[in-house]
Amino acid sequence: MSATQPARKPRGRQFFANPGPTNIPDSVLLATAHHTMDFNDPHFIEVYDACIAGLKRILKTQQNIFLYTGSGHAAWEASFVNLLSPGDTVLILESGYFSISWAKMAADLGVEVQTVPADWRRGVDMGAVQAALAADKSHVIKAVCVVHNETATGMMIPVNEVRAAMDAAGHPALLLADTISSLGSLDFRMDEWGVDAAVGGSQKGLMLPTGMSFTGVSDKAMEAHKTSRLPKHYFNWTNMLARPHKSFVGTVPISFFYGLQEALRLIEQEEGLENVFARHHRLGNAVRAAVQHWSGNNGPQLFCLNPSRYSDSVTAVLMPEGINADELRGVALKRYNVSLGGGLGPLGGKVFRIGHLGDLNEPMILGTLATVELAMKTAGVPHTPGGVDAAIAALAD
Ligand SMILES: *Cc1c(COP(=O)(O)O)cnc(C)c1O
Repeated sequence: MSATQPARKPRGRQFFANPGPTNIPDSVLLATAHHTMDFNDPHFIEVYDACIAGLKRILKTQQNIFLYTGSGHAAWEASFVNLLSPGDTVLILESGYFSISWAKMAADLGVEVQTVPADWRRGVDMGAVQAALAADKSHVIKAVCVVHNETATGMMIPVNEVRAAMDAAGHPALLLADTISSLGSLDFRMDEWGVDAAVGGSQKGLMLPTGMSFTGVSDKAMEAHKTSRLPKHYFNWTNMLARPHKSFVGTVPISFFYGLQEALRLIEQEEGLENVFARHHRLGNAVRAAVQHWSGNNGPQLFCLNPSRYSDSVTAVLMPEGINADELRGVALKRYNVSLGGGLGPLGGKVFRIGHLGDLNEPMILGTLATVELAMKTAGVPHTPGGVDAAIAALAD
């Protein structure tokens, strides 16, 4: 753009199609704008207690929960430091960028990491998980870590199958599940699936601003916590239990809870949790129909090659060989004001990602897909035109 030409200022609201953070409903935004209160004020405690009960319903647990002022990474770290000791081993099920980041965190904390490798486009083989656990006869592995929904690749890993593999191997390790980009979008059943630590965050399916995260903790994990020796203070669950809210070492971020109360009302009362899952499935299907259509003529294709593991909250789209995904994202953002997610780690420049989680409906998805198609046309990316029609057909089905 020449210096004399001002940058084109897009009109209208931005279509925000990143897979996290996500769009915040206006009523949630307004609810977070609450005046300051003492966090021990009985009026706030009422809201707080209702939110904790609601979060447990969404996690489908009747066990424990601890919360932190910090993004999802904080809850990752809290789960490790509260459950493990220096030199312990964790088994990470490779899924993509997020499983690798979680493994790096474990290593930085002084924990040994063993990995079950996986093809990122097909996902981990549960037979290999069971074999790795069966081979660990002396039970060196203290925790198995799985990312329920790998946001970098658009793949859902069935946590119940991980539990089944652990049980089949007769292994006593704890099961840690990252549910950051699945909770409130895809079905997650902490107690039924025998998850010992479920890591969640505020800014994805829960439709809140970034900055609060939490861990659902099983009674079995609370026992393991008692003997864990990794250093901790702010994240220490024992310190939290001594606090009036049984969570948060330090000031409780009250505005999050006013927002969460409203988000829970939208999810549970206005729409219904099962309907929320169904909507995510419907919208996810529409996005996949569009991408599959585009893939003709050497167009972009679905990164995930395992239909039984398609993620209903995010789709990663693999660009044709030699075509940069970030250039397409740049066109979509600068010319048309549509924000798309980029490729993470080794997928940088190779994929772009469409988030379809949270506060989202058909026109938002169709608008995003239509604009991706428009951007492909203007950027000269090969594809089969008509992906939006395929999405409409999937939605009308
Ligand atoms: C977003 C995300 C994280 C990281 O959470 P932050 O809130 O960005 O710290 C971890 N795991 C998954 C699967 C995610 O989608």
